[in-house]
Amino acid sequence: MSSPSNNIAVNAPTAGRALVTPRQLTLVLVVALALAWGFLPEFTVSVLSNIGLYALVAAGLVMLTGVGGMTSFGQAAFVGMGAYATAWICTSPTAAAWLGGAVGPALLPWAVLLLALWALHNLLDSREGRAIRALKGGRLMAESMGVDTARHRIKLFVLAALLAAVSGWLYAHLQRFVNPSPFNLNIGIELLFMAVVGGAGHLWGAVLGATLITLLKEKLQDVLPALLGTSGNFEVIVFGLLMLFVLQRFADGLWPTLARLTSRWVRNDARKEIPTASKAAPAQLAQRTLPATGELLLQASDVSKRFGGLVANNAISMTLKAGEIHALIGPNGAGKSTFFNMISGVDDPTSGEVRLSGQSMTTKPSRAFAALGLGRTFQHVRLLGQRSVVENVALGAHLRAKRGWLAAMLRLDRAEEAALMAEARRQIERCGLGAHADTPAASLSLGQQRVVEIARALAGQPSVLLLDEPAAGLRHLEKRALSVLLSQLRAEGLGILVVEHDMEFVMNLADRITVLEFGTVIATGTPAEVQANPRVLEAYLGGADDELLEDAR
Ligand code: ADP
Ligand code: MG
Repeated sequence: MSSPSNNIAVNAPTAGRALVTPRQLTLVLVVALALAWGFLPEFTVSVLSNIGLYALVAAGLVMLTGVGGMTSFGQAAFVGMGAYATAWICTSPTAAAWLGGAVGPALLPWAVLLLALWALHNLLDSREGRAIRALKGGRLMAESMGVDTARHRIKLFVLAALLAAVSGWLYAHLQRFVNPSPFNLNIGIELLFMAVVGGAGHLWGAVLGATLITLLKEKLQDVLPALLGTSGNFEVIVFGLLMLFVLQRFADGLWPTLARLTSRWVRNDARKEIPTASKAAPAQLAQRTLPATGELLLQASDVSKRFGGLVANNAISMTLKAGEIHALIGPNGAGKSTFFNMISGVDDPTSGEVRLSGQSMTTKPSRAFAALGLGRTFQHVRLLGQRSVVENVALGAHLRAKRGWLAAMLRLDRAEEAALMAEARRQIERCGLGAHADTPAASLSLGQQRVVEIARALAGQPSVLLLDEPAAGLRHLEKRALSVLLSQLRAEGLGILVVEHDMEFVMNLADRITVLEFGTVIATGTPAEVQANPRVLEAYLGGADDELLEDAR
């Protein structure tokens, strides 16, 4: 079990001499802005409030583009909808009187922006935030973790549209009149520039981008026509060139560079701030009662898969029981990964049936497999490389928690989040990667990344574990540690199906082995039986796969 002191240790400052935390800096800037506001010239105030309005839309685009991996040129249309709806619903004099009474109305965009940034920041630092980030890694991985990707994409799109509409609503109140020119495609593209130039993956990048582009636009609108001797929207061309330049030199936008340059003064701790036990007593995550040893977990009956004329899987039947390690071996191209996809819901069999824990899984999506206790790793590692190991592993426990977007935005999910983090750390420790929990996943060796995937699968408390070449890239001692871990899991009652090329590893570990060749099962039995099988010897020594030949010796 992970102790409370574990959690606290994670929060220990690392950057030593830095003067302020980002939070303190934000607070100082906000207070300074609020104090200065009354003394600023009217023109500056109007530019500032425009920046606030743009940054609000750009923040939605950062979520959509940089975080979620989607894109939209049409955000300006949602701004327009918000503006027109406002103009239509309330007549502006009363609205202006209402707003003007309470706060300086030009300050309102910034108040709303800061509130939105706070909520979005909270959202990203949550279970649902990890699911949103997983969207960028593609459907396959996210769905295997139990994330409903279609639903999250729609919600993310609606969120970005709402932020744009709120910006339009504020705009209508501030301008007191509405015309269509600010909501055209050009503005849509400018808004995208702001998100990308600032830093598509960073919320504060939206503010930086909105500031830069707005100020630049003001300048260019004065300078360019005079320079070229004719009027027109030339600034769009300059923005295009600027974006090319920024993307060339700063692939992630300007924000990460700014953060690095200021790191001497601002503590930019990449570590995730973890809710400590004192702040929030960990909630209970959903627990699965593991099946009794020997119980049938997974059953494939005559599973076939055709790709056009190619029969990748030819009527494969096999079972996996609780408390056993079953190895699937065969030369490259034999159909092992295809079979994994069939029994994890990634792809539907052309014919045949897959049953998981007694249920027929025909046409069910992979998140339904995950919900029934199937955890898996991928032959080609699928991690969120920029995120820490602990965040990656916590994604594996997605289905064991339930707090939604709103709860996350309002920070009502802290107890559950603490439990998720504790569970993730426990699995990381168990897999021997404790020292790397807070490093970005991409900075680990490929072999270690495979182990991170195992920890991620274990965080889901699976009863069935599918491992596609888990020992590839591991060094000798790491392989031995993996062997010990898998034996331990077997003793706890998991059913493990493993594809692996390392014959020594397989023969020492597996209870049963199924051998595939050209999509067909050519042998099945104990390691000793399979090793003595003439068909297997022929398949391996027939020179189909040099690597296997080496291993078989
Ligand atoms: P293994 O994992 O045993 O090396 P695979 O299951 O990856 O083998 O591939 C089995 C065969 O199916 C190969 O001939 C491969 O080229 C083919 N194959 C796999 N996936 C596809 C696909 N999506 N479309 C067409 N052919 C595929
Ligand atoms: Mg494969």
